[in-house]
Amino acid sequence: MISKAADGFYHPKSEAELIALVQGARQNGVQLRVRGAAHSVSYAVYTNPAPGVPDVVSQQTPPPGSAMNVMLDLYRDVVAFDKTTGVITAEAGIHLGPDPLDPTGTATLETSLLYKLQQAGFCLDDLGGITHQTVSGFLSTGSSGGSIKYGIESNIVGFRIIDGTGTPFDVRRDDPDPSKFWAALVSMGALGVISTVTLRAVPTFNIVGQEAITTIADCKVDLFGPGSATQPSLEQFLAQTDYTRLYWWPQRGAERVVVWQANRVAATPGFQPKEYEEFGEAPLVEELLIAIFYTIVGNLGDLGVGKQKLKVAFDRAREIAAQQATGESPLSEDGITRIGAIFQAFVAELPVVGKAIEKIIEGIEDLTIDALEFVVFAAVDLITPFASGIQKAMPQIMKAVIPIFVSLDSEKSGAQKGQPQHFQDYSYRGLPMDNQADDILVGTGFTEIWVPLSRTRQVMCLLRDYIAQAPTDAEALSRSGIYTWELYASKPNSGWMSMSYSNGNDEWKDGVFRVDVFWYATFAGNPVSDFYEQFWQLLRKNGVPFRLHWGKYQPNAAGGDPEEWTPFFRSQYEKWDQFLALRAQKDPGNVFLTDYWRQRLGV
Ligand SMILES: Cc1cc2nc3c(=O)[nH]c(=O)nc-3n(C[C@H](O)[C@H](O)[C@H](O)COP(=O)(O)OP(=O)(O)OC[C@H]3O[C@@H](n4cnc5c(N)ncnc54)[C@H](O)[C@@H]3O)c2cc1C
Repeated sequence: MISKAADGFYHPKSEAELIALVQGARQNGVQLRVRGAAHSVSYAVYTNPAPGVPDVVSQQTPPPGSAMNVMLDLYRDVVAFDKTTGVITAEAGIHLGPDPLDPTGTATLETSLLYKLQQAGFCLDDLGGITHQTVSGFLSTGSSGGSIKYGIESNIVGFRIIDGTGTPFDVRRDDPDPSKFWAALVSMGALGVISTVTLRAVPTFNIVGQEAITTIADCKVDLFGPGSATQPSLEQFLAQTDYTRLYWWPQRGAERVVVWQANRVAATPGFQPKEYEEFGEAPLVEELLIAIFYTIVGNLGDLGVGKQKLKVAFDRAREIAAQQATGESPLSEDGITRIGAIFQAFVAELPVVGKAIEKIIEGIEDLTIDALEFVVFAAVDLITPFASGIQKAMPQIMKAVIPIFVSLDSEKSGAQKGQPQHFQDYSYRGLPMDNQADDILVGTGFTEIWVPLSRTRQVMCLLRDYIAQAPTDAEALSRSGIYTWELYASKPNSGWMSMSYSNGNDEWKDGVFRVDVFWYATFAGNPVSDFYEQFWQLLRKNGVPFRLHWGKYQPNAAGGDPEEWTPFFRSQYEKWDQFLALRAQKDPGNVFLTDYWRQRLGV
């Protein structure tokens, strides 16, 4: 058996080495888990955490101890690729696109699956909002992009998996009895270690689309109503559009919506891409701005800790600026003005501090990240004595700041006024519209609620009314949160544990509507108990059937399940018990079963 490396991971180079690791784990009675890009919450990825360690996204290091955590950076080659049919078999560590946070620095564009496919004229039918993940990690949690028409599951031909005894087994969609294939499609690492994945890619295509930013009233989609001849309901829009996702900002008094949508077009010679810009022309400033604002307001209870978190953001910004190395300053006059405006919003009700901050901002002499860091830290020191006043003013502050971050198309100047952003791109680069978002500067945790598509309007109205009925602005803000909500949809499939599983005759047969509630990664507090629990309870009390994304936050009561969430979710999956029976057969020694998964699955 290979030894653990200095980074705490095992790095096998071959299937034989992987098998030996699983056998070693079983013999020694220790857990073994494989990480992909670690984009899921850390409890879902790794072996049992040390006591008190929080459950976070993008945790790059494994828990200490004798349990075994495996990284597949040396196991990501293409094993076979038929360039006439698009059928490709790859080792499980292959990533979809480049992973900028890959600790080994080797998950580049050129080593990625999508790049290799594109070079040969192929792509996958659908992709998530980012493609930093590994193929096996993405599939293991049931991840997918925003399309009712196309799904990545359609591209999956089969898996080779090493079970808990160290024995490989193959499952394929075209097996005479494909039930094990459907069990393995979304398996959270519970059936074994995926060794290889076989996919049937499709001829590559391009996308053409637009993004509109409007008020709820001006939105071309009827977000809460039944729709009309000229304005589709949200459900109709999700079903009719090839690819789409919406960002809903539900904060009282600042409500707005961002609708990204795209259609497939044939790949033609001479195609001229025009890339989508998620963060405008100066993405680094924009992302740093988001990091500064959310880290400060998310840590008003202890701005000393907030400053430590800000330091991480500035370090990351310097790293990105160095990689870009354009010779030009990554900051801009406009960026600085925007940062100034944000601080002004903070202190609108504290004029003395406001004046002082204004002076500091004006004092920035050179547009460097170091100078900005100095100024921001000085501003934070000034704000600190007023933190509780700022907390009270948060509803007003959000009303002032959201329009700065998310400016409406109607506020654009010149010929652009009222116009959406238009873009066109290669599918492998254009579909993952959030790839520009840096995993640290805009690091985000999520809970993602999947409901039958026909429940779209009911759920949207429930959520809107829940926020609207809050008796005070402060309560409304604690319900809406201060960050955004993503709305999108997916096709149904037959994967037993897939959040969009349908048997074809049930309520899920038309696909799912997904509500992805964001939690900025540096916020103080516990996203599950401080924020997400209220939405799960709201839907459950109102009798809405729902499932939760396996890679994102879930009810996670330490020391029990007083709300009986596990039985609730068991009742949402027809094949839950069959999956557990197969799990027990494939992993008799519970090598892959951590406390987290034991509780989730009720084993
Ligand atoms: C910024 C961001 C954007 C996201 N966008 C989307 C989106 O658009 N759509 C969506 O549905 N989800 C999205 N997600 C969620 C993400 O796709 C999932 O968390 C996914 O599982 C991450 O893949 P990964 O490669 O990082 O795997 P990891 O998170 O590292 O692992 C996921 C699970 O798979 C297991 N695993 C990994 N490899 C293997 C293997 N070879 N064998 C057995 N088990 C294995 C792990 O142990 C873990 O349980 C997003 C997450 C983030 C942080």
